[in-house]
Amino acid sequence: SKPLTIGLIPADGIGREVIPAARQVLETLRSDVMPAKLNFVNLDAGFEYFQKHGVALPEETLAALKGDCDGALFGAVSSPSHKVAGYSSPIVGLRKQMDLYANVRPVISGAAATASGERRAIDMLIIRENTECLYIKEEELHEGPDGKYAIAKRRISEFASRRAGEMAFSMALQRDAMRQQLPASERTWTGRPKVTIVHKSNVLSVTDGLWRETVRSVYESNPEYKARVDVEEQLVDSMVYRMFREPEAFDVVVAPNMYGDIISDGAAALVGSLGLVPSANVGDNFVVGEPVHGSAPDIAGRNIANPIAAIRSAAMLLESTGYGSAALAIYRAVDKVLAEGQIKTPDLGGKATTTEVTEAVCKLL
Ligand code: NAD
Ligand code: MN
Repeated sequence: SKPLTIGLIPADGIGREVIPAARQVLETLRSDVMPAKLNFVNLDAGFEYFQKHGVALPEETLAALKGDCDGALFGAVSSPSHKVAGYSSPIVGLRKQMDLYANVRPVISGAAATASGERRAIDMLIIRENTECLYIKEEELHEGPDGKYAIAKRRISEFASRRAGEMAFSMALQRDAMRQQLPASERTWTGRPKVTIVHKSNVLSVTDGLWRETVRSVYESNPEYKARVDVEEQLVDSMVYRMFREPEAFDVVVAPNMYGDIISDGAAALVGSLGLVPSANVGDNFVVGEPVHGSAPDIAGRNIANPIAAIRSAAMLLESTGYGSAALAIYRAVDKVLAEGQIKTPDLGGKATTTEVTEAVCKLL
């Protein structure tokens, strides 16, 4: 099959350590699971690049992504906590420029203990609508007779809700197909695929009402979804409660932007280190894999960053570009290294280096 070209954007801090680690894993894949040749293109972006060149997401990077690449891997940016004139986050720019309208975050317990030390079979996929909701940032400050007040607009459209819903149901089926490739003993989710629609339409009947109805209509109007996927709804507050009480009860979860932001960070806490959690920014024509963690300046440059979040993000990139078997091979190798528990970085209580963890994963491919 034709080669797959992947843009690599390490950006700042440990991004420069974990993205090369992910590349090494991709390069190790055997041709029986990864039939296409992989090409890599190194691309610039980030805060350090901004400090040298006055731009955080250079035109050349965008042009290369749009022109040559089938997908990309992004490391992390060190976003300044104060406002810096002329700076805006390159990953936010990338999402907009490439129309990456959903943020997809799997939360997998694998063999890693949870923060509380117990082991649970969590295998959840959160799909967060990525373009609207309160994050359109239309805020106004007013002066009233009783003092200041502020108003924020929240946009929910049929268009954005429909494509987030489509992604949720199609991913539920895609996950089911991937699970069928696993021996029964390795499947964490054994029931029919399920999609949980998160909203708060008991209070916000117009906005969340439109979201809920639109996502539901995606389901109702597709016979394949109706035949093969279960659907349920969960109010966002009770979603948080249930997610902490019984995280193993969720398969695919789909939420408007802000609820999705909050529940996906909360869900990451269920599975321990930030260094384990991947994500993908997905559009119809492009996908950018991105570990959830930041640039970790406290540990950068010491070869001790956990590369697993970035390696799993690379697997997600393969999964959404149609190379499910290659993705599965990576997921299983990572799970095995975690289950054996010998080779782990300091964030998981071990002494191994980034290089050692990466090599342990590669050896299993
Ligand atoms: P962070 O995720 O960088 O680090 C939080 C803590 O987790 C740190 O103690 C760090 O050492 C640890 N950690 C994170 N990733 C790890 C890994 N792979 N292996 C081992 N330990 C890991 O968050 P922060 O410290 O709040 O932010 C640092 C910088 O990153 C800031 O400039 C922030 O704006 C930026 N940031 C960027 C992103 C992104 O690029 N998507 C996300 C969050 C924060
Ligand atoms: Mn967040």
